[in-house]
Amino acid sequence: MKPRICNYNEIFIKADGTVYPCCRLWFRDEYKIGHVTDADIAEKILSFYKPCKCELFVFRKPLPEEKYDFKRFNIETSMFCQAKCAMCCTKSPDYSGRADSPYLEYWIKLIDRLKPRSLTLQGGEVLVQKKTIQCLKTIKEKYPEMKLHCVSNMSVDASRIDELEYIFDGFDISMVGFQHETYDAIMGLDIERTRKTIEELLRRKKQTIMIKYLLVPLNVHEVSAWLQWCIDSGAESLQIAYASGWEWVKADTQYGFWSKIFDRASAKLKKTLIKNFKEGNAAGRLSFEKNAAEFLSVSREFAEENSLSGISCIGGNLPEKKDIRSHVSSSGTVRMEKHILPAFSDYYILLSEKYISVYIYGAGLIGRCLLDFIKDKSLPGPAAIIDDYCKESSVGGIQVKKAVDVLFKKQDAVLLATDTYSREFTDNLNKLSCPASIKNISNFIKEV
Ligand code: SF4
Ligand code: SF4
Repeated sequence: MKPRICNYNEIFIKADGTVYPCCRLWFRDEYKIGHVTDADIAEKILSFYKPCKCELFVFRKPLPEEKYDFKRFNIETSMFCQAKCAMCCTKSPDYSGRADSPYLEYWIKLIDRLKPRSLTLQGGEVLVQKKTIQCLKTIKEKYPEMKLHCVSNMSVDASRIDELEYIFDGFDISMVGFQHETYDAIMGLDIERTRKTIEELLRRKKQTIMIKYLLVPLNVHEVSAWLQWCIDSGAESLQIAYASGWEWVKADTQYGFWSKIFDRASAKLKKTLIKNFKEGNAAGRLSFEKNAAEFLSVSREFAEENSLSGISCIGGNLPEKKDIRSHVSSSGTVRMEKHILPAFSDYYILLSEKYISVYIYGAGLIGRCLLDFIKDKSLPGPAAIIDDYCKESSVGGIQVKKAVDVLFKKQDAVLLATDTYSREFTDNLNKLSCPASIKNISNFIKEV
């Protein structure tokens, strides 16, 4: 972790106009710097300090002679989006507000004052927000050296490419499926339009393009076809990541349906990797989010055995073979089958007896399933259910709190009710210096 004067380097402006030192802290009220419309927002940004650390940086105060030098403003424009992604975490498919941010002129004022070197724009879908695009064009005209980078689904007509090339220097493009029906079923969009525009952008080679494939159960079998298309189209920066939607996949059914599908997807992907990433002849760079590499059993040993290069994990090395569970299906899914619940009963009673307060962290499907079971069996309810994003104030009659609002004690236990976010939840608790014992429900289930 590098010491950094975070408020001299970047800011995050949320769609509602709230300003934070970075996008990791948007749900932490104590890190709100102010509102983009505040007359003194620039001064508030430059004088802001609150101790903080993450996997990359430790926030430090500036010395008297140090000057600000903003590497980027990260701006969430508006939640308006033309897609209807079934796993959308920004709730864009339900968004009914205005298409464009009401703060466009305030972004410009702040940019004029603090002169960031780059902007990262994300929504919703920025490219379908007309006034926002106009505003970005004005910014680019005024500051041609400033790099504008956009997170997009790129499902826009190829006739717009000249305009996009003028405004933006790069795109991070997410695709959640590759075949027509799958892409339509998950995103509600036309894959042909997306592919055509991406192919043309890649052909022109004027911008930096990163294409990311988000894995959900419904599209896993298409990942190798997507990868081959990206490579054939000339893409050089690729990513495969894990999206939500796994909680309802049952692995150990009578016919092992999902296990077979995931095993086949993994085998096909490995063939595509061997074909395209031979050492000395690698087709660009492909990084896996760690869960995705584990899930598709792409290990360091596999890469070495096949002399592959250009393949890595985000922020580190590929997982070792021993970290990849023998069956693909068991790495990605939590199996809340009936025979597990009685064992959970004993485990939970043990926790309730040993610790003063037991918290359940996660109000998703697993958290709710545990709460239902606790209620059914008349077990003592948890002290609270913790969820940093949940909008409900209670779930199953149990109060929902943000982690930051709980005063954890050493004699407490926090049960992580998640299969995908245990690392993130643990990091959140560590950031809060949580003294409680952290118990991972996934580990418990695997042991059972
Ligand atoms: S230390 Fe990390 S989380 Fe905290 S403000 Fe800096 S970049 Fe953001
Ligand atoms: S493209 Fe992104 S913002 Fe739009 S619905 Fe899909 S996930 Fe949500």
